[in-house]
Amino acid sequence: MRILFISDLHLSEERPETIRAFLAFLGGPARQASDLYILGDLFEYWAGDDDDSPLNRLAERSLRSLADSGVHVYFIAGNRDFLLGKQFATQAGLSLLPDPSTIGLDDRTTLLVSHGDALCTDDEAYQQYRTQVRDTAWQHAFLARPLADRKAFIEDLRHRSTLAKRDKPIEIMDVNADAVSRILRQYDYPTLIHGHTHRPARHLHLIDGKHCERWVLSDWHDDAPYLIWNGASIEARRFRPPAEKIAAAPD
Ligand code: MN
Repeated sequence: MRILFISDLHLSEERPETIRAFLAFLGGPARQASDLYILGDLFEYWAGDDDDSPLNRLAERSLRSLADSGVHVYFIAGNRDFLLGKQFATQAGLSLLPDPSTIGLDDRTTLLVSHGDALCTDDEAYQQYRTQVRDTAWQHAFLARPLADRKAFIEDLRHRSTLAKRDKPIEIMDVNADAVSRILRQYDYPTLIHGHTHRPARHLHLIDGKHCERWVLSDWHDDAPYLIWNGASIEARRFRPPAEKIAAAPD
């Protein structure tokens, strides 16, 4: 059993090197897996399943091809792509999962998977925003607006988020220790895997006298960092896409 976990690719047309790493990963390590869990922020933004951008179509085809090869592909929404819906999921062969979700393994190990933004409770402004945009009625109303409007709204939001992050103390953008304790207790002390913070690490927590591991996924740039459950333990790996063959430019 080989279960792979990735998050925070932030795929966008502005970063072709990450798109390349993603495609190489899907054709490489992901093909050898039984399951692939995408734990949010696969895309830099998602305006709705009706956004037929070349990148979205490419991602859909590539994920579909992986799913058709027999790999189970699961998706938990991140704070960037929470509007990714059933239509895209069906076409791309993704199973949508709630955040958090548990994975029961045959040796009675339980993995708990999440994007991770809900654990950043010190950032109160963000949590307020999250409550608003995760509301079904809000999403319904937003998705009813013309695509161009939605894209303009998101563009403005991305801009303001970049500015806001500049002024936020670095600590509040990490997970809150009590929020981590609470979720580990609630799910009976599993191993937790999440992304979002872009601070890849393996943390050990002692909660109520029980040892729990918390793995934080890496964000992506020009290669493909991922975690793998090999049937006994979790390991962090990094797949480097083969060098690109660039045709000589004509004079
Ligand atoms: Mn995120």
